[in-house]
Amino acid sequence: MPYHCVAYGCGKTAEDGVTLFKFPKDREEFSKWERQVQRTRPNWVASSASHLCHEHFGWEYFYPGTLKLRVGAVPTVFDRPDKKIYKYLRIQHDSSRRDAIFRSSFRTCSK
Ligand SMILES: [Zn+2]
Repeated sequence: MPYHCVAYGCGKTAEDGVTLFKFPKDREEFSKWERQVQRTRPNWVASSASHLCHEHFGWEYFYPGTLKLRVGAVPTVFDRPDKKIYKYLRIQHDSSRRDAIFRSSFRTCSK
């Protein structure tokens, strides 16, 4: 079974072109990562088979020009449930459709 990213709204596997990182062996580092995931998945519990993909780490945590994580890297880049609409808008290439979506979401919000 392929590993998938445990981050909220992600779930990517190596087939999606991401690099997956296993949770650290160090107990303190492990719970740091777990707490970061729990900010958007409150009831989630990490296991030794849990992985996160490279999209959740700032570039400052990688060795320059590689996808190799520095020791002590902490995942800080996560989608939040309430930010989902912005991500959706970003991937819309058709601007008229994007405007329509924006207008309809505005209506929903101002109800
Ligand atoms: Zn991910």
